[in-house]
Amino acid sequence: MSESLNFIEEIIERDLEEGKHGGRILTRFPPEPNGYLHIGHAKSICLNFGVADKYGGQTNLRFDDTNPETEEVEYVESIMADVRWLGFDWGDRQFFASDYFDQLYEFALLLIRKGKAYVDHSSAEAIADQKGSPTQPGIESPYRIRSVEENLDLFSKMKEGVFEEGECVLRAKIDMASPNMHMRDPVMYRIKKAHHHRTGDKWVIYPMYDFAHGQCDSIEKITHSICTLEFENHRPLYEWYIDQLGIFPSRQYEFARLNLSYTVMSKRKLMQLVNEQYVKGWDDPRMPTISGLRRRGYTPESIRDFADRIGVAKRENIIDVSLLEFCIREHLNKIAYRFMVVQQPVKLRILNYEDGRVEQMEVLNNPEDPEAGSRLVPFSNELYVEAEDYMEIPTKGYFRLYPGGLVRLKNAYIIRCEKAVTNPHTGEIEEIQATYIPESRSGQDTSGLHVKGTIHWVSAEHAVNTELRIYDRLFTDESPDGHEGRDFKEFINPDSLKVIPYAKAEPDILSAKAGDRYQFLRLGYFCLDPDSWEGYQVFNRTVTLKDTGKKK
Ligand code: ATP
Ligand code: MG
Repeated sequence: MSESLNFIEEIIERDLEEGKHGGRILTRFPPEPNGYLHIGHAKSICLNFGVADKYGGQTNLRFDDTNPETEEVEYVESIMADVRWLGFDWGDRQFFASDYFDQLYEFALLLIRKGKAYVDHSSAEAIADQKGSPTQPGIESPYRIRSVEENLDLFSKMKEGVFEEGECVLRAKIDMASPNMHMRDPVMYRIKKAHHHRTGDKWVIYPMYDFAHGQCDSIEKITHSICTLEFENHRPLYEWYIDQLGIFPSRQYEFARLNLSYTVMSKRKLMQLVNEQYVKGWDDPRMPTISGLRRRGYTPESIRDFADRIGVAKRENIIDVSLLEFCIREHLNKIAYRFMVVQQPVKLRILNYEDGRVEQMEVLNNPEDPEAGSRLVPFSNELYVEAEDYMEIPTKGYFRLYPGGLVRLKNAYIIRCEKAVTNPHTGEIEEIQATYIPESRSGQDTSGLHVKGTIHWVSAEHAVNTELRIYDRLFTDESPDGHEGRDFKEFINPDSLKVIPYAKAEPDILSAKAGDRYQFLRLGYFCLDPDSWEGYQVFNRTVTLKDTGKKK
């Protein structure tokens, strides 16, 4: 985290010094409700709400709903839930671009009256041809010379539904020779005879992004309109509309969008993953969506911390996804209760511990947090331990179970491993047998023994079955959408989800509620999934305990 200001903060401090807008700061977060929000949006949310908060300003939530075909109420609702979950509050400042359709229409009329806009009956292809190329000036449309009266008449006919889709558009009259392609008479309105999720069938013409966005900023008197770099070339047009209309001078500032390694971030691609069922939904824990990260077990704090650490860049870059993983690990280490769960259970019998005897072992919920208290975990002569914690012939440096070896059962006793009983037909281990050392009980150990290994366990009689879903990255390639001529789906990791249906957990796990987060000792951080039902719980692995040091 840097103490120094990011470039947006520098701009704001300068504006405050100059007394611009009477010291008022108003930002906005402007999602298009055509998909679920992802971690890139989270960056933008943290930035917009963050700087406003820092300088005593406010932030509007504005849905940019100018494309009726792709937008849905489901997305509006998920977006609100996600922004709230991240910890931000827009109060009563919730708006929709569609709230301003009447006003935008008036703005268009004003430009027509000023001779700065015209109805163009050229076909879409003709308009594209007229635009020219970055190295060649465009050519003017034959309809560019229409009179103000004719344009007013035609534009109102567009609005009345007299024309069909694609028959004509309203264009700004700027400069077909401008070196900036966006200034070559951009389209302001097009005809779309589509039902809108808020305005119904009232409109058959819809404003283009460039004519909607800046004007909405201005209507709301946004002081700092922060967007991603790809809009840098749109800025002259943003300012041209504001100047021509003589409306509130919102100003646009661009920062580099967040790109993450091993991740795709475009909504279109995320939608493909959902629709083509590579994942189970927008909130699949492998998705980089906010709802996916939430289900995976990420905390809002960890995401805000991540947004903070990556800073605000002016140039495109790719952030290593392991930084995001680091942030959640840091937070969960502080807050998660430690539980014992055995993922590949094998029986361990303690020969010298009486049948039917049960001791309650006191276990700290979280050694990192003195306030977290403790709980009791039952211990008996029949336990489950991890299959990989036994080796018939130990390799060098193996300090767990092997015949003749001593090991500590976490929070309980030191045991001596005697032998493993195997099935004569399959060779599989049926049970490991051991003896315990009564004076070695954790917290009151007088045995004087020093053992190098500690393993976790669960009492067999008290164990509850749980399902563990072990996630890996969804893509095997660092930049799945960065390969010319290859589809990003070619790089999907076939092993991104491994299901362990019969892990054994200590009984208190039954009190977990959806969304609760744990550290399962030695296994990783886990979060209870809403797929759980009474008596059978499903846990998503949020992240490993340590950075596994996979190739960056
Ligand atoms: P599209 O316009 O293709 O549907 P989008 O990702 O631009 O997708 P919007 O809903 O328009 O989605 O984005 C809302 C806000 O979030 C915009 O201000 C946008 O600049 C910002 N944003 C989107 N993606 C990122 C990203 N990867 N990093 C940072 N900000 C982003
Ligand atoms: Mg967008």
